[in-house]
Amino acid sequence: MKIAVCVKQVPDSWAEKKMVDGRLDRESVDAVLNDLDEYAIEEVLRLVEPLNEAAGSDAHTVTLLSMGPDRASEAIRKGLSMGAHDAILVSDPALAGSDALATSKVLAKVIADGGFDLVFCGTESTDARMSVIPAMLAERLGWAHLTFAGAVRVDLDGKKVEIDRMTEFGVETMSASLPAVVSVIEKINEPRYPSFKGIMAAKKKTIDTRSLASVGIESSAVGASASWSRVEGAVARPPRDKGVKVEDSGDGGEKLVDFLMEKRLV
Ligand SMILES: Cc1cc2nc3c(=O)[nH]c(=O)nc-3n(C[C@H](O)[C@H](O)[C@H](O)COP(=O)(O)OP(=O)(O)OC[C@H]3O[C@@H](n4cnc5c(N)ncnc54)[C@H](O)[C@@H]3O)c2cc1C
Repeated sequence: MKIAVCVKQVPDSWAEKKMVDGRLDRESVDAVLNDLDEYAIEEVLRLVEPLNEAAGSDAHTVTLLSMGPDRASEAIRKGLSMGAHDAILVSDPALAGSDALATSKVLAKVIADGGFDLVFCGTESTDARMSVIPAMLAERLGWAHLTFAGAVRVDLDGKKVEIDRMTEFGVETMSASLPAVVSVIEKINEPRYPSFKGIMAAKKKTIDTRSLASVGIESSAVGASASWSRVEGAVARPPRDKGVKVEDSGDGGEKLVDFLMEKRLV
């Protein structure tokens, strides 16, 4: 079985972010592997490692797939040090400004050409937070998409994948024939910390960096000019008010009600 995990390098969640000309300034902040993608990697490793151990070989492989600048290889190395076998990074100056449609086009092409049986994603990235890439991949590939997975089971003989789908109303069990796209939530597991051995091993693992030409996509099909969405403007969130401190000298309840009425909350 060949499994791909889509991983994205994102600005550190705690970093102060700013927009420049409608784009997030990624250069000026520390970058990390998207949190939710770590859960996807962990889940896939938990599926594959026992199978490989039983087979005594790396018959089942885990490939990380990312689209981003060259520096995204730093985030990829973290995933490799967790235990993924290898990685593909699509990096090309023409990709700058690509929106979700363009991003999914590139990722879907690599997946289609790679002969994968399963693709795992996080449910969302912590920067753009559109939560659309997994669905777009499934649509472009013509594969089933199982979303919000809180548990995943793969039936190799039946070529099926089954998930527990966590919703606000309860848990749904859903299954699909392979190939399929699965997106996971953060409650699915506790991602491992890379071990020293894993970090050293990751240094020798292959990151296959591909240009758009080698992926087989014209530069005119991606990037800002080919994107369907455009950021028209962005304003910084206003600083928070200090809040109102009410001294209770017997009339605290009244003051509280007055405050709620003034805010039209009652
Ligand atoms: C007009 C416009 C211009 C933009 N310009 C830029 C730009 O110049 N540079 C830039 O970096 N971003 C840019 N973006 C943001 C970029 O399009 C989104 O980051 C991308 O479409 C993915 O959306 P998302 O991050 O919300 O992913 P989500 O749909 O929230 O992500 C879900 C999952 O999909 C997978 N995934 C998402 N993105 C990738 C990826 N790149 N590689 C591998 N797996 C992935 C991960 O598994 C992730 O957990 C732009 C967006 C718009 C609308």
